[in-house]
Amino acid sequence: MTRIAVWGFLMAKAKKTPKKRVKTGPKKASKKPVKKVAKKPAKKATKKQAKKATRKPAKKATRKPAKKATKKPAKKATKKPAKKATKKPAKKKLKSVRVQPIKPKATFKLLRRVADVKKYVEEAKKKRKRIALVPTMGALHEGHLSLIREAHRLAHVVLVSVFVNPTQFGPDEDLDRYPRDLAGDRRKIRASGADAIFAPDAGEMYPDGFQTAVDVMDVTRDYCGASRPSHFRGAATVVAKLFNIVRPDIALFGQKDYQQLVTIRRMVRDLNQDVDIIGMPTVREEDGLAMSSRNTHLSPAQRLQATSMFRGLRKAKRLFESGERDAAELAAVVLDLLREERDLEIDYVAVVDPDRMERIPEVERDGIVLAAVRVGDVRLIDNIRLGPTKSRRR
Ligand code: AMP
Repeated sequence: MTRIAVWGFLMAKAKKTPKKRVKTGPKKASKKPVKKVAKKPAKKATKKQAKKATRKPAKKATRKPAKKATKKPAKKATKKPAKKATKKPAKKKLKSVRVQPIKPKATFKLLRRVADVKKYVEEAKKKRKRIALVPTMGALHEGHLSLIREAHRLAHVVLVSVFVNPTQFGPDEDLDRYPRDLAGDRRKIRASGADAIFAPDAGEMYPDGFQTAVDVMDVTRDYCGASRPSHFRGAATVVAKLFNIVRPDIALFGQKDYQQLVTIRRMVRDLNQDVDIIGMPTVREEDGLAMSSRNTHLSPAQRLQATSMFRGLRKAKRLFESGERDAAELAAVVLDLLREERDLEIDYVAVVDPDRMERIPEVERDGIVLAAVRVGDVRLIDNIRLGPTKSRRR
């Protein structure tokens, strides 16, 4: 009894040992503990036998070994191999390349010309570096920086593009007053661990005679695509150009701009572009408002009204979690909340299939609620996922 009790106690202390037992099954379960009893435990065994053999060891001898021997091996034996057979091979191995804390790079570069970026990338590729691209329009906030930090974790070289892309703004949109702050962006990007900024001017990206566009069709038709007819064509075209210039191994995008993320994924598949697209979670202000460069244009009163969008989306998610599956009902709770705000104009609220971007009458397993509003002359979008969270790399 005592020996088992002491062994149980030691097993609980040596946290890693039980995991190994779990993975390898009953054979190893009998091996490892024996080693430990023979080596380190010798001294402790005598003390514990003398003093605490009655309390803690007694509990642990019955609980922990029993749980692990019965539960975990059983789960792993049945579930994990099955998953690996279907999903894991497709996801490949996008492992973290570093774990060190972020330090600004002394070699940090600001690149303004396509030719300079190509040269920079060529050098990195020669050294077999994994390259990440984070495309942005600047005026960076925590949402952008979360993408850069993740890129830093996943790649050796992180390039952030800062380009207010004129072709994704309609004629009556806010291109001229879109916030710009390259000096501030440069500081933030460097502090977030990036290696370089690519900040071209419009002439560099669209020289005279430019006349090509990438049109991703079905997934851009509705929602923001309907309200902003040329928006996704402009966004897909500039991202395709950036992919050709930088030839990144991975590129990171925010889920806040969900329709854009789906569009880019579709483009990458359709054009056989060799880049992994990572979709990153939406970063929010404390009051839930999704961070956006355009939030700076909101007055305090407008800002307060803008928060109703996320409140509505969260309410829809709670309703879904309580069992509601009807898309109209789920959308209605969002619409009801938005309608309470006097200065807020609703563009759309839609419950859609997260991959095909088609409206669905019912959310069976998986859906996403998309919303867009105008507060004053600021257009804001947000969304919330219903159902299981999917891999960021789909
Ligand atoms: P933008 O500068 O608005 O074009 O955004 C550049 C990238 O940052 C896009 O992939 C956006 O989806 C992403 N992004 C913008 N806001 C957020 C946010 N609040 N959280 C996460 N990602 C964001």
